[in-house]
Amino acid sequence: MPFFHFSQNNSGGFFIENDRVQSHVVVEAANADEANARAEEVGIYFNGCYIGEDCDCCGDRWYSVYSTEAEAVPSIYGTPVERFKFKGYDLGAWVYYSDGRKIGYGAALDAHDPNDLDDDADLRREIARGSDGRASINSYSDWLRY
Ligand SMILES: [Zn+2]
Repeated sequence: MPFFHFSQNNSGGFFIENDRVQSHVVVEAANADEANARAEEVGIYFNGCYIGEDCDCCGDRWYSVYSTEAEAVPSIYGTPVERFKFKGYDLGAWVYYSDGRKIGYGAALDAHDPNDLDDDADLRREIARGSDGRASINSYSDWLRY
């Protein structure tokens, strides 16, 4: 089953980084429509400017995927996620498999015991944010200060 990559735009100058979404989200799904629907289930939304959620000058936070974007393995900008170099705005990734597994990658998540990735409460605490799940992390160096 193919994988689809959702890249987060830091609309309004912040990323939403939590136990559901990171700057990258990869979804395994039968097709693009199912990937978009699954993405919405985990907190991704589309047309953010139109619905008043995102900053008009920065643009939408998330964009829906198309069938032409299907990848054979979980990938970020076409690079397999295990080999992707997380840096700058690329803080982390959640990969959602069709069998229900969720696996985290990247700087934001490597700080955690990899055996403890299912502990969402720990993750929320670690990423230190407001109750709305938003954090003003604009760079990797910002992230390191947490
Ligand atoms: Zn803006």
